[in-house]
Amino acid sequence: MKFILMMVFASGIVMNCQGPPPAINSPFEKVKALSEEYTILPIPSIKPEWWLREQIQKNLDGFTGRLDTLVPALILEDQIYGRNRLTKKVKNKNVGALGNEGDWQIQFLWWNSETQSNWRDGYLRSAILTNEEYHLRKLSQYIRYILSTQDKDGYLGIYDDDIRYKFDNENGELWAKASLLRGLLAWYEYTGDKNVLIAIERAVQNVMNNYPATASHPFYSKQPNVGGTSHGLVITDVLESLYRITKKDIYRDYCLFLYKDFSEQTLNEDAQYLKLINDTLPLKGHSVHTYEHLRSIAAAYMASGNPLLKKAIDSFLKKINKETTASGAAVGDEWIRGIRADATQRGYEYCSLQELMHSYLSLMVKFGDQSMADQAEKIFFNAAQGARHPEKSCIAYLKSDNSYAMTGGLNGDDHDKKQTRYSYSPVHQEAAVCCVPNAGRIAPYYVQHMWLKNNRTIVAALLGPSTVTTPIGNDTITIKEETNYPFGNLIRFEVTANSKLAFKIRKPDWVSKFLLTENYREENGFIIIEKKWSGTQIIELKFNPEVVVREDINHEKYFTYGALVLAHPIEALEERGKSFPIAGFYNYKYSPKEKTEYLFANEKVLTDPVQLKFKTLVINPRTKQKDTIELVPMKETILRQITFK
Ligand SMILES: [Zn+2]
Repeated sequence: MKFILMMVFASGIVMNCQGPPPAINSPFEKVKALSEEYTILPIPSIKPEWWLREQIQKNLDGFTGRLDTLVPALILEDQIYGRNRLTKKVKNKNVGALGNEGDWQIQFLWWNSETQSNWRDGYLRSAILTNEEYHLRKLSQYIRYILSTQDKDGYLGIYDDDIRYKFDNENGELWAKASLLRGLLAWYEYTGDKNVLIAIERAVQNVMNNYPATASHPFYSKQPNVGGTSHGLVITDVLESLYRITKKDIYRDYCLFLYKDFSEQTLNEDAQYLKLINDTLPLKGHSVHTYEHLRSIAAAYMASGNPLLKKAIDSFLKKINKETTASGAAVGDEWIRGIRADATQRGYEYCSLQELMHSYLSLMVKFGDQSMADQAEKIFFNAAQGARHPEKSCIAYLKSDNSYAMTGGLNGDDHDKKQTRYSYSPVHQEAAVCCVPNAGRIAPYYVQHMWLKNNRTIVAALLGPSTVTTPIGNDTITIKEETNYPFGNLIRFEVTANSKLAFKIRKPDWVSKFLLTENYREENGFIIIEKKWSGTQIIELKFNPEVVVREDINHEKYFTYGALVLAHPIEALEERGKSFPIAGFYNYKYSPKEKTEYLFANEKVLTDPVQLKFKTLVINPRTKQKDTIELVPMKETILRQITFK
């Protein structure tokens, strides 16, 4: 007590000498860098099990493991980081996308870098998590190749030296590196190969030499609509990872510089500082940019500790909430357009599901905020599972919560003949090969954030079947999480540890009742078991979900059971489309056998918790009678109704 009083007294003296803290004039001013609440574990520390492993394995056997053969022209035949780097002479590129002629086609020049590197990022992480030797061998050859493309000055990228770093318009300089280096960082975490880390640091140093902080403008563009340039802001992912590995402040500080320049240029981007703090301004931009930039601002905030940036993040989250549907997805049929989320009228892009989930996870790590984990789980278990084909290896590029037709346009809209995004494909080349690569990233990113740590604390931050092994103090602990969560609600933790340790389990926001076979305390949404552990111990945690009727932002009703959003499946006719160089892969369209938009009747729901089948009565607007319908988890559906007016 005496010690505490002295501390208070001492700090009072310091305050008096210094006077009030100086006013903060700029959101880009560095106040005091902050530390992240939790530590992210290296990829090999966590293994997915059961359904999570099966899903990643299925991706490896399908579009993730074989995308290079499904679209050889975009991957195998375009060595965009190597001998096919872009030069002044390359004015256009055919990437197979349908669409109207226009200035936007300048983007085609860098598109293959995103396709290749996002694909490989998901592929690398999937192969590492499942320890699949065939794929790991193939990927190690790729790593050797890509490192061989690095120039003497450290340049790794897609431009020849006649144009690199000299742009006044749309370009993919930073974006091509961000997507590439994320994958290389995964490989470094897996192998510990110092040469890979050196290559990444040299590539980033080359960026900092050519775009010096405070003396350059990487986001300058003479016209405000830039795809690749503003995607490039997420090179903050790479800078943050390098900071975590090396503890060199320069990487973190550069995030602040990038966000400042991004905010100060004339760009049609939602995440610019002055737009964020204007509460009346809705989100309008290209949705995937908007949602990925959330974590770039968070990176700038950690570098600066500037409370003005924290305010901007809070305002940003409120704006995203207005764009969020029942399934956790944030909308944007490529564009958000300032129109609120809607279960039927608004679609969401698979890329946005991955990028927003990753942003929420990044905020969870930084601030320890478990509500961000709830949002991430919601997206992954519902929107993301519900935009995968339940049986075949393909996904929807765009999907809506209420999905009454998947024939190209939103719910059967055939106004735009070139719109193919609302359909299923292992590639989606007619739109862009962006969503399929991201569909291979989302499960690995979920798995990698399931377990976090902090001093003598291990945290089950996201729930699901997995095993974690990690050193804490002088002990190496292993926890096996045996569960079918969220498709089951019993979790059996097998904890092997021999030291004093706090084991924190995030209590999902929907949980009201649970049973735990161990003494615990609850704190800030976590169940905490703190004790001296010895040998191996089994702890069982049981949630007792009930079907709950909730409202989306438009007050339409929907049903949840635990972490699952339920959907009424609609019988569909399948139309098989284009085939691919690998037998058995096709595009698919679906139209409803019969379309009825049911109305809410406020009736009881019969529950079969083992089969996860539910039944309720709803009003059929044609007959005015009540019909019995079935409800199932979103992941089992193609066409479906989720919300009921
Ligand atoms: Zn996409």
